[in-house]
Amino acid sequence: MKKKEFKSESKRLLDLMINSIYTNKDIFLRELISNASDALDKLYYRSLTDKKIKVSKEDLIINLAFDKEKRTITISDTGCGMTKDELESNLGTIAKSGSLKFKEDMSKDEKIDIIGQFGVGFYSAFMVSDKISVISKSIDDDSAYLWESEGADGYTISPAKKDKVGTEILLHIKEDTDDENYSKYLDEYELKSLIKKYSDYITFPIQMMVTHHELKDEEKHEYEDKKELETINSMVPIWKKDKKDIEDSDYENFYMDKFNDYDKPLKVINYNVEGMCTYKSLLFIPSHAPSDYYTQDYEKGLALYTNGVLIMDRCSDLLPDYFSFVKGVVDTDDLSLNISREILQDSPSLKLIAKNIESKIRKELEAMMKDDRENYNSFFKTFGVQLKYGIYNNFGQDKDKLKDLIMFYSSKHEKLISLKEYVQEMAEGQDKIYYAAGSSVSKVNDMPQVEQVKEKGYDILYLTDYVDEFAITAINEFDGVKFINVESKDLDLETEEEKEETKKINEDNSDLLKDMATLIGDISEVRFTKKLKKHPVCLTSKGDISIEMQKVFDAMPNDLGLKADTVLEINEAHPISDKLKKLYKKDKDEFNKYTKILYCEARMIAGLPIDNPTEISSLICEVIAK
Ligand code: ADP
Repeated sequence: MKKKEFKSESKRLLDLMINSIYTNKDIFLRELISNASDALDKLYYRSLTDKKIKVSKEDLIINLAFDKEKRTITISDTGCGMTKDELESNLGTIAKSGSLKFKEDMSKDEKIDIIGQFGVGFYSAFMVSDKISVISKSIDDDSAYLWESEGADGYTISPAKKDKVGTEILLHIKEDTDDENYSKYLDEYELKSLIKKYSDYITFPIQMMVTHHELKDEEKHEYEDKKELETINSMVPIWKKDKKDIEDSDYENFYMDKFNDYDKPLKVINYNVEGMCTYKSLLFIPSHAPSDYYTQDYEKGLALYTNGVLIMDRCSDLLPDYFSFVKGVVDTDDLSLNISREILQDSPSLKLIAKNIESKIRKELEAMMKDDRENYNSFFKTFGVQLKYGIYNNFGQDKDKLKDLIMFYSSKHEKLISLKEYVQEMAEGQDKIYYAAGSSVSKVNDMPQVEQVKEKGYDILYLTDYVDEFAITAINEFDGVKFINVESKDLDLETEEEKEETKKINEDNSDLLKDMATLIGDISEVRFTKKLKKHPVCLTSKGDISIEMQKVFDAMPNDLGLKADTVLEINEAHPISDKLKKLYKKDKDEFNKYTKILYCEARMIAGLPIDNPTEISSLICEVIAK
């Protein structure tokens, strides 16, 4: 029979699995049991919506068997099974998104990271097996097929015999090595404890033949071994258990298994609601973003169960976009079992549950920010952008729900602080929330406009994400205090006296300034200022669009024609001002060159592109060569 090759990425992953870089090999069993449970869920759900399929709950079983001599473990289920095509596509490929890129020079930890991001899945069985045979009969096909593989060099698929619909996975367990004891997986006690540890919550019975040591003859003290088929797992889903009976590790194992994460969750929210709507829910905030989180491929949603049956793997209506990172399960009896997905979306119960969940997550995050800042910082680093995006999205309709959850770097505290914290600690006489936008904290720190605000003793929020200023603009004010960009021309920090002086200088030199503006063209005004300390020039903006916002618009694929209204400000106390005034009287040609160079400097500091670099470069050389 012709051997088929695994897709190249799958092959690389398999190599890693076979060479066992993953230290926790035990998890192979929970992966296979979890697949079996999914297949049972699928079949049962089909039977509810398709009258032709008859299934009774008692027939939905996972069975585990092992043979010490032959070194095999068999995991069988009576689930939906796989057709020949499904065997091919499900077991022949992993990482369907194709984004799994292995680099040769990656460290072991990075590789584990990547594997983790895609869920170790079925392939994890290769950590402990040197041969895997899968016999499956699909609910949609009368024939059964056998898929077989001995590892990275390929697999075969051939016709097989199987009476009942479902899947049987036969693992041939590896021989022991100096470092690894694979034989432990051929031990009844070990298998039982692995099921208990990782798969206890599975809602279908996981059955296994279990040996009982029974007293045969009391007088002679004779015992005999009796074998009995037993259900090993308690079958109570974790979200239905009493909270006091659940250990942290139970939550963690459940989360990692159910949501294919290699890391523990950052936060677990387990809560039940009774009243207008009744449901149990178990929610998780991941400790890191899934690899596809910030892409189009990411699907938000919570697993939705009703009457113990999985209705939907990812019910997106249960989560608003700004909390799309939350994973979890919702179980309610308020929805009818065979409800269609379209009707489900409009169901008032579902809407009510969704509203409840939204507010619960928000309260939990608020509490975390208040009481557990370290974890909140870590959360915010990962998902803060999503919250800020949520603020300005949909015309800012959710801003009031989210504004207490966001944080920005504070120049005074040199760490992230909330808007509330900023406002509470405002200096005497301060009536605005100052912010400065730029691509990094150090770049913002170097901005000429930041200097003067700091000198006044005011804290400045540094906006370093592209969404930040849009979010701030949407919020508009916090506790009645308005925001102001330090680069805004309206920044009103000068004393009356200074204002008078500035006004006079600008009036006295109005011709010079007008000529500069005309020469530059792309600017609404040039003015002298007293607010700059060391820097000779800076660019500020008038109106609603700041320079940082313009950069975001410029980066968009379609030109919206949105431009900041910019002002070139020249430090009146800097020697360059006198030089300009002198040149303006004596040497117009030289004055023009200086104007162009200074404008270019201001653009550079603002991080804006220079349209005519060659011209500016020759001008600079001309001037310095003198
Ligand atoms: P995942 O479970 O994360 O999708 P796996 O590699 O574990 O990834 O499995 C790949 C696919 O193979 C599953 O999504 C499922 O469609 C199919 N599959 C695996 N095991 C079974 C099974 N016991 N019964 C039916 N389908 C299965």
